[in-house]
Amino acid sequence: LKGNIRVFCRVRPVLASDSSENTAKISFPDQDMDCREITVQGPEEKSSLGLISAKNHSFTYDHVFGPRSQNAEVFEEISQLVQSALDGYNVCIFCYGQTGSGKTHTMSSEDGMIPRAVRQIYDTAHGLEEKGWQYTMEGSFVEVYNENINDLLGKAEEFDKKKHEIRHDLQKCQTTVTNVTTVSLDSPEKVESILQRAWANRSVAATKANERSSRSHSVFILRLVGDNSITGEHSEGNLNLVDLAGSERLSHSGSTGDRLKETQNINKSLSCLGDVISALGQGKEGTHIPYRNSKVCKL
Ligand code: ADP
Ligand code: MG
Repeated sequence: LKGNIRVFCRVRPVLASDSSENTAKISFPDQDMDCREITVQGPEEKSSLGLISAKNHSFTYDHVFGPRSQNAEVFEEISQLVQSALDGYNVCIFCYGQTGSGKTHTMSSEDGMIPRAVRQIYDTAHGLEEKGWQYTMEGSFVEVYNENINDLLGKAEEFDKKKHEIRHDLQKCQTTVTNVTTVSLDSPEKVESILQRAWANRSVAATKANERSSRSHSVFILRLVGDNSITGEHSEGNLNLVDLAGSERLSHSGSTGDRLKETQNINKSLSCLGDVISALGQGKEGTHIPYRNSKVCKL
């Protein structure tokens, strides 16, 4: 209802580990009203007359969450989108930002968007049973690393080796990935074990699992199929929860070999995603959407 594409901004609190002199000066001019604006103070500059000044950069979003915001508040804003997936729509939620900005905290921590979405869907589906709806909920979790798809719920030994293809069924408007593990989410507690399994697999596959996860995109795919025994209605929806690779501008200079390849793939896939979202945002019928330019867009 609020538009096809919405952009929120979340600012995480300053952590004890952050160096104090590099802390950005951020203000929230309308935090008591609409919570849509954020102002970031640029670096101080000295003019030829010796005056010190700093430029303010202001940005407007559909909503701005300040440093004291909790995951529950963020989820409130997206819960309608989660509901849309139950109604048979395809929904994508992306976390974008530099490494350390709070993407994984928002998306996959214990009280993050993934567990909350699963719980909400489970509760709502349960409530719809008396109206004749029977839902099945399936989850997969994949990683896109160097334009390669890995099954985070599969075997760690097969990472970067086993091939997975993305298939589109244009008629059904459905996208699937071949040979990925699918887990039936028949209880809301299952999501915990899925997140743990994914994390354990990543730790086996990469000695520096944290670093690897910052340099790959992870996509939690929830597929919801509903059948109504009273009305005969059928609905199929997908909810994709995406934790993107760190958006820090990576310099090509100085990196070689594997690092250079990683860097190029991240830069390319994030800029392709920008192109896709910008084309979708124009909302014109018949606009070419360049989905094919990278794996994460295709997915
Ligand atoms: P990213 O996934 O973007 O690299 P993380 O989610 O791992 O970043 O966050 C980096 C660190 O900041 C973690 O230690 C995380 O617990 C902490 N953090 C992030 N967001 C918040 C928040 N809103 N409140 C408290 N701590 C946070
Ligand atoms: Mg992360």
